[in-house]
Amino acid sequence: MKALIVANWKMNPDTLKAAKKLLEATKKAAAGAKGVSVIVCPPAVFLRELTSARGKVAFGAQNVHFEDRGSYTGEVSPVQAKDAKAQYAIVGHAERRAMGETNDDVRKKVDAALRANLTPILCIGERERGQGAEHFEFVRDQIRNCLSEEAGKKLSKMVIAYEPVWAIGAPKPMIAGQMHEMSIFIRKTLVERFGSAGHSITILYGGAIDAGNAADMLQNGDVAGLLVGRASVDAAVFSALLKACAEA
Ligand code: PEP
Repeated sequence: MKALIVANWKMNPDTLKAAKKLLEATKKAAAGAKGVSVIVCPPAVFLRELTSARGKVAFGAQNVHFEDRGSYTGEVSPVQAKDAKAQYAIVGHAERRAMGETNDDVRKKVDAALRANLTPILCIGERERGQGAEHFEFVRDQIRNCLSEEAGKKLSKMVIAYEPVWAIGAPKPMIAGQMHEMSIFIRKTLVERFGSAGHSITILYGGAIDAGNAADMLQNGDVAGLLVGRASVDAAVFSALLKACAEA
């Protein structure tokens, strides 16, 4: 199976011209990286323009609202993201949760994305990690509260990105062996709640991934791919990262 690499551009770059340039470099790097699938998640304002030149990459929205339409100033609906040719939607990213998004909001967003035929990339992960096992409880709680019965029937059409908040924007990622443990825990939690369909979930790791650590995480983290922030908005760095993933 191909490694899924999600490029979360966040609120970068400043201009459409720069976004097109970054996309061209990303497409070139993606075309040369065998065994790797790239999903670019640009700012919503650039989405439609960039998807018209998609090439070998797919696109995702960074966030969608939980209603299909209505009076929600400043929001983008999953229906609109789909119309702009997105195939994926990041939902519940830690930076959105920090702005007040709750598990309830996230669950409704997952459902709304599925309704619009977008593949939700559901982000989960504890804010901090102590000596004990509280982080497992935290993650179990997020999984239970962010997935409805309906979503549970469509696990094969979903992606879960485990992103420990303490590793996002940090100098180093989580140790791959710990991710392996977390991947097993996520599947176990899904199977407990939704039955054997839980085995079919695609799990990604996100948090401080770069060209130097991506291969280790893919090889030893029991993950199907990576969600990449900072390293996705520098063309040379992202190209080196994709090369490392292809070699892994
Ligand atoms: C993220 O924000 O989802 C992320 C993984 O960021 P970074 O790669 O910069 O840590």
